[in-house]
Amino acid sequence: MQASGEKKLLIAMIFAIIAGGLSGFIWGETMMAVAWLGELFLTALKMLIVPLVAASIITGVAGLGDIRKLGRMGGFAISYYACTTLIAVSIGLLMANLWQPGVGVDFASSATTAKPEIGDVSVTDLILSLVHPNIIDAAANMKLLPIIVFCILFAAALTTLGETGKPVIAFFEGLNEAMMKMVGWIMIFAPIGVFALIASKLGSAGGGEAFFAQLAGLAKYALAVISGLLTHAVVLSALLVLLARRSIMDYLQHMGTALMTAFSTASSSATLPLTLEGVKAAGVDEKARRFVLPLGATINMDGTALYEAVAVLFIAQAYGIDLSFGQQMLVLVTATMAAIGAAGIPEAGLVTMVIVLEAVGLPLEGIGLILAIDWFLDRCRTTINVFGDSVGAAVVGKLAVKQ
Ligand code: ASP
Repeated sequence: MQASGEKKLLIAMIFAIIAGGLSGFIWGETMMAVAWLGELFLTALKMLIVPLVAASIITGVAGLGDIRKLGRMGGFAISYYACTTLIAVSIGLLMANLWQPGVGVDFASSATTAKPEIGDVSVTDLILSLVHPNIIDAAANMKLLPIIVFCILFAAALTTLGETGKPVIAFFEGLNEAMMKMVGWIMIFAPIGVFALIASKLGSAGGGEAFFAQLAGLAKYALAVISGLLTHAVVLSALLVLLARRSIMDYLQHMGTALMTAFSTASSSATLPLTLEGVKAAGVDEKARRFVLPLGATINMDGTALYEAVAVLFIAQAYGIDLSFGQQMLVLVTATMAAIGAAGIPEAGLVTMVIVLEAVGLPLEGIGLILAIDWFLDRCRTTINVFGDSVGAAVVGKLAVKQ
């Protein structure tokens, strides 16, 4: 997209978010009438995810040419993601210890009657989810992790085939270009989609008054999560400047549409097409963005990891259970795993939090305490998830790609 077009779109997005927030706030449920416009935008983005992820990963990996380079770049990307996720959880633990949001919580006013629909999730389930017996079924159900694993292996195999593999790689190159073209078209609709998503979500939550009532019940907890997320945004910005050698303002200008879409959809997977477009406009190395970004959108969730740490400590504090330093270290490790395992869809972090709660022996019903406000915090953490992915691509592009 041309620079001036990008700027206009960014301004339109800012207006759309403000207008959506105000309309939902003032007119409440009436704004549900525009929900279908948001749904249209979201579905159009989702439509692109599977072909885009496949084409992006296959061309990205094949573009590296040599399997050893894949090992180096993949290893670097995964280590970088693990480090930033650990930093995020540490910030979450720090915030929860500083704010003590769960101390003195009034169970009656903050617990919702809605029972969380949470099944059992374990670390071995997460490892098993890397592969799927039927790749078509994985695609049909948008299970991105097994698709990514399949595509990495497929592309690595193609690079060993010499001339025979070339037409297949060329096909996926064309598919990738066509998908990115379609992303550009859907982006034009983004301000309307974002407006509708925000207005209707706030409307379905009952409008401004109901939102403030929900927030008031859990104000300290929400503040602990949001201040943690903002602190992590500063850390990510520092990494962007120090490691990727980029200007924050310039990068944010390119990433603005994706970040605002992340906020309004609460889904890093649905936002991925726009994240890819933003990182491309920011001029991040092609090989890094094609391979690293889909991987990041699926396994790198700094915002989710941070939120899980705060939420688990909040639940412990609310039940009057003191978590020792050792137990908090267990939260550090398990929240990192739980964030890796969370899918890039709304409220996935709420489900994988079970791993952390079980590890430190807290009651799963504690999740009911934070349910009321989760739809809002989900949007905040998803925005940081997407920012973290994009910074990761820039850092890997700068440090791990050698021509
Ligand atoms: N909604 C988040 C995402 O898509 C995941 C979560 O924390 O629930 O990135």
